[in-house]
Amino acid sequence: MTEQTLIILKPDTVQRGLVGEIIQRIEKTTLKIVAMKMVYASKEQAGTHYADDKEWLISVGEKTLKSAEKKGIKLSRTALEQGQWVRQMLMEYITMSPSVVMVIEGHNAVAKIRMLCGGTSPQEASPGTIRGDYAIDSYMLADASDRPVQNLIHASGTVEEAKREIKIWFNENEIHTFKRVDEDLIYRKG
Ligand code: GDP
Ligand code: MG
Repeated sequence: MTEQTLIILKPDTVQRGLVGEIIQRIEKTTLKIVAMKMVYASKEQAGTHYADDKEWLISVGEKTLKSAEKKGIKLSRTALEQGQWVRQMLMEYITMSPSVVMVIEGHNAVAKIRMLCGGTSPQEASPGTIRGDYAIDSYMLADASDRPVQNLIHASGTVEEAKREIKIWFNENEIHTFKRVDEDLIYRKG
């Protein structure tokens, strides 16, 4: 299935000069960059992207509670409270300095890019993934420091999430239709 997914190279990627490294990894998969720009996200964009959506807030919070539980730590916040707290910090993080936003297209693009990114917490992300190779942050360190986990990259979690997110960052005329020269080989019919 040909899909599109949204990527944000977050402020820590831009500030650490890792934009090129990460784009190279994405391009090498043969997935196609169909839109890309640098943005200084507004509070409004940040608030729409990290939506005030109960289901998502709970899913964000649950990841942390599970990670803490594995370490034998019991957190006092509920999953929803944790998610709401993280959302506030994410809005500040994503607006603190410029990011690079991209739309990536290709066969199973959403799942492939998520695999390339690795798990949310770099501490637990596998070596070979972007978060595993270029960051060391953890839920515990980030929470204790009152900031979101600095994990370099955002990537849409589902095709539906991607459709919603792409509209926040791009106008239709900024998303390009073109063919890469290697597509005849990659999508070759026998
Ligand atoms: P992702 O899809 O892997 O990026 O993860 P989520 O959508 O669940 O969370 C969005 C972002 O919030 C993550 O990429 C982290 O930057 C941050 N984050 C998520 N959970 C926590 C948390 O429990 N504590 C802190 N400090 N940051 C978090
Ligand atoms: Mg997510």
